[in-house]
Amino acid sequence: MNVFVVNCGSSSLKYQLINTDTEEVIAKGICERIGIDGKLKHKPTGKEELVKEVAMPEHKTAVSYVLEALTDEVAGVISDLSEIDAVGHRIVHGGEKFASSVIITDEVLRAIEECNDLAPLHNPANLIGVVACKELMPNVPMVGVFDTAFHQTMPQKAYMYGLAYEYYENYKIRKYGFHGTSHSFVSKRLIEILGKTGQSSKVIICHLGNGASITAVQDGKSVDTSMGFTPLDGLIMGTRTGSIDPAVVQYIADKKGYTIDQVMNVLNKESGVDGLSGVSSDFRDLDDASEAGNERAILALDMFAYRAAQYIGGYVAAMNGVDAIAFTAGIGENDGKIRAKICQYLGYLGITLDEEANKARGKEAVITTEDSRVPVYAIPTNEELAIARETVALVL
Ligand code: AMP
Repeated sequence: MNVFVVNCGSSSLKYQLINTDTEEVIAKGICERIGIDGKLKHKPTGKEELVKEVAMPEHKTAVSYVLEALTDEVAGVISDLSEIDAVGHRIVHGGEKFASSVIITDEVLRAIEECNDLAPLHNPANLIGVVACKELMPNVPMVGVFDTAFHQTMPQKAYMYGLAYEYYENYKIRKYGFHGTSHSFVSKRLIEILGKTGQSSKVIICHLGNGASITAVQDGKSVDTSMGFTPLDGLIMGTRTGSIDPAVVQYIADKKGYTIDQVMNVLNKESGVDGLSGVSSDFRDLDDASEAGNERAILALDMFAYRAAQYIGGYVAAMNGVDAIAFTAGIGENDGKIRAKICQYLGYLGITLDEEANKARGKEAVITTEDSRVPVYAIPTNEELAIARETVALVL
């Protein structure tokens, strides 16, 4: 089967065409600057990249250029659109309505729309992608795969805030969690590696990318996660604060004369390791700066690792134990230094790092010694493949 995986943002659209029988990527690419001017970068596997600067006033035009590229005489990978069997869409927020992926019917579209309030920057853009694809491929089944769905198994004690109950009842304010597709994919793989599929298991997944979250997964189900009502909560991230005393919002607003929106912008875009270090949000730059002795870069990395270790400890307590831990995403898969920094706090779990093995980059590896009481792994995530697998499972 060929599944077209779409991740549609407000001004961009990332895609992959995946042969789900071999799980190979047939082509992938991105449309950028939709609604501004428009640029398509299309990379067919084994062929030369096609770059096209064309007006993309709306997402439908962008999708039509992608479909044209996929069937192009030179850069194409299929001869006809009928070779696309299904489309899998990444949808950020499914609220409490969606605990798993779904085939997108008109009714489902309306239900997703009702979650727009919860992710105003992401969900409307995701839905525009769905509508554009439906218009251009009316007979192809569409599946929605939600970032929040995997975390719908959290118990109420984990997802409620200490806010008066009416805010949950009336406004559904609670922890939802994000990166669910990645946490699901990596935890499944880790449980498989451990040989515990179908048995009881306790694992912790550290998705450390520009956005970062940690999830406790018990018996294959998310039981707690560090992101909350929005992806701002939890770990210190590239440009996001992570957890912070909410009273800081009012204090900054008063001191700087900012509106709430302006303060939220500080918390989301001007903070994290970027704002702390004044160097960069990219861990490669931070690693270089810290090696050169930049004190604020050293501080930012120390804080990042300390916070991550605190969450890991909290989740060991939540599950009363842990069988294994995995690092994934851009930083987790590649940055041995930060993995080592986090593991330094985990000696009490009997974790001993294998320094040589911890040099692994972008590939699956166990990074602890054989006698480490709890093994720690680096496991590459693959959200597109996870979406394609979910899509096949629903349309077959
Ligand atoms: P993601 O959001 O998962 O794409 O992760 C992106 C982040 O991963 C970048 O901002 C970098 O901080 C980090 N990253 C990617 N490659 C490396 C690397 N080789 N070493 C350290 N950090 C990396």
